Amino acid sequence: MLDIKNYIGGEFRPSTDGATLEDFNPATAECIANIPRSKASDVDLAVVAAHSAQAEWGARTLAERADWLVRIADALEAKHEHIAQTESMDTGKPISLARRVDASRSVRNFRFFAEFGREQSDVTFEMDDAMNYVHRSPVGTVGLITPWNLPLYLLTWKVAPALLMGNTVVAKPSEITPLTANILAETLDEIGLPAGVFNVVHGLGPEVGQAILEAPGIKGISFTGGTSTGRIVAKTAAPMFKKLSLELGGKNATIILKDADLEAAVNGAVRAAFTNSGQVCLCGSRILVDASIAEEFTQLFVAEVERINIGNPADADTVMGSVISPEHLEKVESYIKLGIDEGGIVLTGGTREMTGYHGPDGVGAFLRPTVFSGLDYTSRCATEEIFGPMVTLHTFDNEDEAIHMANHSEYGLAGSIWTTDLERGRKVAARMETGIVWVNTWLHRDLRTPFGGVKNSGVGREGGTWSMEFFSEMTNVCIKHPNPTS
Ligand code: NAD
Repeated sequence: MLDIKNYIGGEFRPSTDGATLEDFNPATAECIANIPRSKASDVDLAVVAAHSAQAEWGARTLAERADWLVRIADALEAKHEHIAQTESMDTGKPISLARRVDASRSVRNFRFFAEFGREQSDVTFEMDDAMNYVHRSPVGTVGLITPWNLPLYLLTWKVAPALLMGNTVVAKPSEITPLTANILAETLDEIGLPAGVFNVVHGLGPEVGQAILEAPGIKGISFTGGTSTGRIVAKTAAPMFKKLSLELGGKNATIILKDADLEAAVNGAVRAAFTNSGQVCLCGSRILVDASIAEEFTQLFVAEVERINIGNPADADTVMGSVISPEHLEKVESYIKLGIDEGGIVLTGGTREMTGYHGPDGVGAFLRPTVFSGLDYTSRCATEEIFGPMVTLHTFDNEDEAIHMANHSEYGLAGSIWTTDLERGRKVAARMETGIVWVNTWLHRDLRTPFGGVKNSGVGREGGTWSMEFFSEMTNVCIKHPNPTS
C-alpha cells in the first residue's frame, strides 16, 4: 500500500488539510494507494513554487533545457520496468502493453522533444530594408491536466515540451491513476531538477483541476480528457484568456473498402477496436465495411476477436486486461443493454469475463470484447463515446455512403481506411472530418506530426512544432537595416 504525496517546490507533502483518496487496482479491486485529496490551497502553494522557479528556468537556453530532457529520459528509462508494472497495476492494462507503449513512449517523449527542439532553426523574414526574427519566450506557469487511459504517456507528452520551452508546470494526473506521475516526480527530484520547475497536485477534477483552471497565476492550460470536461475547461479558462489546448473524446471510424487486404484489415480493425480494452481516444469503435465483403469480413473479425487472450494483466501473454474501474464496467454494460434494446445483435462478448482470470475474488472489472451488428449508424451506441471494449459493425454500398457515415459524428479525432488502392485511400482520407487518418495502419505515430481533433474532439494540435508553439509566446523583432546614405 503506497502513500503518495503532492510534489510542490521540491518537497513531497500531504494536502494542506490532510484529506486523502483511495486508489484501486481495477483487476483485483484492491486499494493500492492513498493519495492527497488536494484543494485550491494546495494549488496556490504549487503556483507560488512554480513562480519562484520561473525566471531562472525560463532564462536558460533551449539547449540547456534539452539536456535536462535527456537526463530525465535516461532516469526514466532506468525505471522502465517499474513504470510498466506500476501502470499495469493502476490501470488493469496488460504488462506487455504497459511495457511496449506506456513506459517506452514516456521515455521517448522526453528524448524526442530534446532532439526535435535542438534541430529547430530561427524563423526569419528578410525585407529589402529590414529583417524580422521570431523570439520565443515561455508562457510562464502552465497547468497540465491528464486522463487515466495512458497516464504517464499523456502526461509526459505535455511535460516534455512545456519544460523544453522554459515553462514551469503544475500537473494534475487523473485521480484514478496517480501512481506514475508520482514516479515522475520522484525521478525529477532524484536527478535534481530545480525545485518548483515541476509540481504535481493530486486530487479530484472538480476540486484540484478546477482550481488550476481558475488560478490567475497559471497562464496556459493543456487538457486531455472527455469532451464534457473539456467544455468546463473552456468555459472557465477562455474568459481569463489563458492559452488553451484541448484534446478530447472520439468516436472513430474504421472504413474497410471492398479492395482491402482482408487479413490486414481484420487484424488492424481488431487492434484499433480493442487495444487497451478500447480505452484509447483513437480507438476505432465503429467499423464501416463494404456490403459486398461484409459477411466474410465479419466472420474473420469475430473469430479474431474471440482469440484475444483476456486475463491477468501481470501475465506476459495477456492481450487484454480489465477496464479502468467497476463504475466504467457498468457504464459499458449499460451501452451493451442499450444496444440490445436498440435492436442490435451481439456477435460475440457482451458479458463479464468470468472464465479465466478475474481477480482473486472474482471482482476484477473484466469484460469480454463485444461486437455488435444490426445497429443503425445513427443509433446512440454508434454515435456516443463508450470508451470500452465494444464495437459496432455497419455496412455501406458505396464510397459516398461510407464517408457520410464516418462523418456522421459530433467527434472528429481519428479514423482508418483499409484499401489496396492508395489513390482511393488518399481521396477518402481528404473527405474525412478528422484530425488524423491512417491508411492501412492504425496508431502509427511520428511525433513530429500534428495530433488532435476537429469538431467536439478538441481545439489545437500537439506534437513537434505545434507543442513548441503552444508552450511559448512569440515576439516578432523587426530590425531596420542601417541606412547607408544617412
Ligand atoms: P475526464 O474528462 O473525466 O478527466 C480528465 C482529467 O480532467 C482528469 O485529471 C480529471 O480529474 C480532470 N477533471 C475532471 N473534472 C475537471 C474540472 N471540472 N476541472 C478541471 N479538471 C477536471 O476524462 P477521463 O475519464 O479521465 O478520460 C477519458 C476521456 O479522455 C475520453 O473521453 C477520451 O476520449 C479522452 N482522451 C482524449 C485523448 C486525446 O488525445 N484526444 C487522449 C486520451 C483520452
